[in-house]
Amino acid sequence: MYRTHTCGELRLSNKDAQVTLAGWVQTVRKFGAITFIDMRDRYGITQLLFGEDLNAQLELNPLGREFVLQIKGKVSERSNKNKNLPTGDIEILVDEFKVLNKSAVPPFTITDETDGGDDLRMKYRYLDLRRNIIKKNLELRYAVNRSARNYLHENGFYDIETPFLIKSTPEGARDFVVPSRMNAGEFYALPQSPQTFKQLLMVSGYDRYYQIVKCFRDEDLRADRQPEFTQIDCEMAFVEQEDIINMFEGLAKRIFKDVKGIDYTDAIERMSWEDAMWNYGNDKPDIRFEMKIQNLKVQNENYFEALATTEFAVFKNAETVLAISIPNAAEYTRKQTDELTEWVKRPQIGMQGLAFVKVNADETYKSSFDKFFNEAQLKELASFCKAGKGDLILVLAGREERTRKAISELRLEMAKRFGLRKDNEFKLLWVLDFPLFEYDEEFNRWVARHHPFTSPKPGDIDAMINNNHAIEVAEKYLDHPYSKIKANAYDIVLNGNEIGGGSIRIYQRELQEKMFAALGMSKEEAQHKFGFLLGAFEYGAPPHGGIAFGFDRLCAILGGSESIRDFIAFPKNNSGRDVMLDAPSTIDDKQLEELSIKLKKV
Ligand code: ASP
Repeated sequence: MYRTHTCGELRLSNKDAQVTLAGWVQTVRKFGAITFIDMRDRYGITQLLFGEDLNAQLELNPLGREFVLQIKGKVSERSNKNKNLPTGDIEILVDEFKVLNKSAVPPFTITDETDGGDDLRMKYRYLDLRRNIIKKNLELRYAVNRSARNYLHENGFYDIETPFLIKSTPEGARDFVVPSRMNAGEFYALPQSPQTFKQLLMVSGYDRYYQIVKCFRDEDLRADRQPEFTQIDCEMAFVEQEDIINMFEGLAKRIFKDVKGIDYTDAIERMSWEDAMWNYGNDKPDIRFEMKIQNLKVQNENYFEALATTEFAVFKNAETVLAISIPNAAEYTRKQTDELTEWVKRPQIGMQGLAFVKVNADETYKSSFDKFFNEAQLKELASFCKAGKGDLILVLAGREERTRKAISELRLEMAKRFGLRKDNEFKLLWVLDFPLFEYDEEFNRWVARHHPFTSPKPGDIDAMINNNHAIEVAEKYLDHPYSKIKANAYDIVLNGNEIGGGSIRIYQRELQEKMFAALGMSKEEAQHKFGFLLGAFEYGAPPHGGIAFGFDRLCAILGGSESIRDFIAFPKNNSGRDVMLDAPSTIDDKQLEELSIKLKKV
């Protein structure tokens, strides 16, 4: 037997017990004739005491960090207790020991505060995974996994696997493709999600499906994206939006309870996409704090009267002027507002400048545009922005889309600076009534905002069918009826992050064909790409809908981290590389030959 107990298990109640432990050497400390060793395994750390009698043996077998060790000994009470360690009341008086395996000197210290940089940690991920901090993340990930499985199982869902080698039908992101040796010149694709399969399972009558499943998207990796990531993917038949919302609110609440011990009893707020965009500037608002965006001007309408006559060119000429009021921030110094101005000018935010109004404690006003606005007008502006004494109003002006994005970033940044984005506070939100279509200006065509299987709101079906005509001038797309059509789609948002999204699907062949046509697909193309689904819809497809949760991100948020990477055992880096495996890599000529592939010389 390699061990009788783990390194995290023994307490004073085990005093005098004879035990065998095995684990890794964390530290070796020599004090004269005796040696203390901290031994670690997945469960914790136990202190070992090697007495004088073992010195000769220790000299013959010097122990280094990360050696794999087995010891036999007696549990004894420590004179110098360590309150920070669950095993801190005891130590093991070692009788005999055996080195099970040696270790080279690790390239970084295996401690919470490691000296290893990101690249090094990823190259030696198997060592990094020994660190407590990462271990805790993987523990949490497994807890979320278990909680989701239990809930879904209790609610009658089947876990059904779907294939990874499928047909390439790029719609949203780019597909990863896999050449087929047996079918020379042909390729499989890795699924971006099991979307069409779960819909086929509904046609087959498996009316509650789920899978915790890998998805693959060959996207340029924006911050904190992984080319392969995991979803809790779900689908139900005979449901409406409300059924899905209820079922998956239940799942989210269950995960909070099981994983964080939080009773999330509040009703989960719901917000239309339109309201989210107007009030928060994006479709995944963090509603842990208010700080709503005030629109001073929408194109030619001036909501804030003073703008109608202002000579202040920055406001006068701008398509949009947006403001937020930051509570208790009027104390911001000149230096701080200057720094904030630089912040909004960074290329990622892309604004020309920042205007501000301070509402002083005595209700006087100080603004960066005092020359153009008198006291009464500033007062009106403050009241328009719902700013009170001691608040700071920040104003951005420019092109509508960019300004909206910028102010939503600024809102989050200010909330962060003022400690309003707390790790241990969780606020869920449903965002509903998304637009069905989005205009792709680059390719001058409509694309599905969610995916092409999402149904329009019943009242919008006619508008979708009857307005399938091209747009002559791309900028005019906002005037096209398609821009007003709403989808039966919903996202669930946690603390400003989209953690899940889904929709009620189209389930009739005719409507699905119309949808493909609206997206500019010819009948032949639709048949070539999605003939299997259209075919299935002819054989009694039930009404259905579903949702998928971003499992990695959900874990990261629950773990209070911004990075999904530390919640994935073997992640890729920002260029999509696995630096441990050194993948992707070239393959040899023989493999290429077998695949009938010739590489272009670059
Ligand atoms: N398959 C969708 C996605 O990956 C989710 C869904 O509609 O259920 O975003």
